[in-house]
Amino acid sequence: MTTRRDFLTSSAAAAAALSLRPQQAAAAAPTPRITASRPVVISSANGLRGVKVAYDRLTRGADTLDAIIAGVNIQELDADDQSVGIGGLPNADGVVQLDASCMHGPTKRAGSVGALEGIATPSLVAKAVMDYTDHIMLVGEGAKRFALAMGFKEQELLTEKTRQDWLRWRARLNKDDAWLDHDDDVAIKFTTGTINMNCVDAKGDISSVTTTSGMAWKIPGRIGDSPVIGAGQYCDNTVGAAGSTGRGEANIKVCGGFLTVEFMRQGLPPEQAVLRTLERLVAMTEQRLLRPDGRPNFDIQFYAVAKDGRYAAGTLYEGAQFAVCDEKGPRLEKCVHLFARPSR
Ligand code: ASP
Repeated sequence: MTTRRDFLTSSAAAAAALSLRPQQAAAAAPTPRITASRPVVISSANGLRGVKVAYDRLTRGADTLDAIIAGVNIQELDADDQSVGIGGLPNADGVVQLDASCMHGPTKRAGSVGALEGIATPSLVAKAVMDYTDHIMLVGEGAKRFALAMGFKEQELLTEKTRQDWLRWRARLNKDDAWLDHDDDVAIKFTTGTINMNCVDAKGDISSVTTTSGMAWKIPGRIGDSPVIGAGQYCDNTVGAAGSTGRGEANIKVCGGFLTVEFMRQGLPPEQAVLRTLERLVAMTEQRLLRPDGRPNFDIQFYAVAKDGRYAAGTLYEGAQFAVCDEKGPRLEKCVHLFARPSR
């Protein structure tokens, strides 16, 4: 069962709605024609395998949240993805602390865990909080005790690769401390990363999930946007779902998942909703995080899917992609953006 509708959006109308300066408006012009179909699954780019798994489950009649959690489990259990689950980069003490949250549109329920240690699939623990408790959010030691009581197995989440990365980060912190710098120039590639996944099934039911190891080398106990309902992800079964990857501290201040869904509720198509959220985020960025040209010195992405199957993702700086799977199969598409990529 597939519904199909075509939408035409003009870049001029989009630019007017966004009140962007001319050079931004050109960069932000959305794909002119978007075909909506259901089911559809979208995620951050690292979910390219996961969106296919989730889509296949949806076509076999799986529940929306079960389908996308199966999709993100692939990254959580992939030790090579250093942004999530096992193999995720640790905090400043070298301990992996994971955050995740989810929302189930049809039943209007939500679950979340923060700073969870020793359990590789925090998305499933967040869903267990949703399914088996009267609470929405559990953190730290309590979240772990809950997970163990629910039958999740404890395991070491630090891999040899992430331990080595942490050691290098630790050694390079201070030339004068007792940790000797390694005599190599091994790059520590990135310090953030996450997977957000959202879907609409053929009936129009919607769910969202976000799971992450958070900002690498964070202060122990730091919780990012991913477990914050309304920031890392949000879902309203009458409107759509949205989620985020990138600098969580920036997202929390604008409740970006919620805000994006609210923009869609007001009638904006997903690509304009994510751009409006990015604009709000720029406006809320504190001075110390602005470059000399007044733009943020970090990047962040928002992903949005509407109840009718339209979808989009937006990023501050040109170049990011996101994953999507519908009847045309899994693929990466370009995010709309506010700014051209800064020259280095
Ligand atoms: N949003 C995540 C956090 O701040 C990190 C990321 O997506 O890169 O914890």
